[in-house]
Amino acid sequence: MDLEEVLACADLVGRSGAAGFEVGYLDDDPTNPRWYAHAQYRGARVIVEDHPTPSAAADALAQRILAGAKCRCGRLVATSPYGAVAYNGTLLTGERWTHEQARQTGQCLWRRAGPRWDPSCTAPPITITGARQ
Ligand SMILES: [Zn+2]
Repeated sequence: MDLEEVLACADLVGRSGAAGFEVGYLDDDPTNPRWYAHAQYRGARVIVEDHPTPSAAADALAQRILAGAKCRCGRLVATSPYGAVAYNGTLLTGERWTHEQARQTGQCLWRRAGPRWDPSCTAPPITITGARQ
């Protein structure tokens, strides 16, 4: 089992201010493992389900968290240099973002390097708890 995805996700979840993080499977059928991962935030629960491995579940959860996050550099987080997120929605903080705002603000590319997700900027890690600083 490749645990780097799980470690990276746990690290990201911790740094983003979640109160809880869990990876598990939904049933005991060994021929059809369905892994889930979830992170609990104040007022928000992020969950992914039906993944074949814990690593896949953890990676999907990390992508989901990052897709709803704003980097401390002020830009929205992107996890792909190509697929700009077409934002017209609500961040995990409850903040509304239109596609136009997202385009003007720009995006900060985050990549997983082994057991850690890192931004392409030098700002400190994200918070998505909505806490004022
Ligand atoms: Zn950034």
